Amino acid sequence: MKEPEAFYRMHTTDDGIRVTKLDADLNPESSYITSLDICECPAGHRDTCRHRQMLPLFISTNRINSKWLYNFKTRKWFLLHETLEEQPSWRRV
Ligand SMILES: [Zn+2]
Repeated sequence: MKEPEAFYRMHTTDDGIRVTKLDADLNPESSYITSLDICECPAGHRDTCRHRQMLPLFISTNRINSKWLYNFKTRKWFLLHETLEEQPSWRRV
């Protein structure tokens, strides 16, 4: 089965860094508090998970609390544009 497109963004909260998964239509699907060591996602008991793998990417590119989305599957970044239209539009970078 083909894995559907999914995008991730990260922002800081009082509890730590929250990673939010968005579906192909950019609707939030799930979100977890994550760090380099632990993650509250279903794979949190494993040595690593995709959230802990992408966290260093967000840190090194300074894209936490930004409009940048990361596609884990294609490993490409997207910049989210807020527009007046109902559906957010965004462009490929
Ligand atoms: Zn995780």
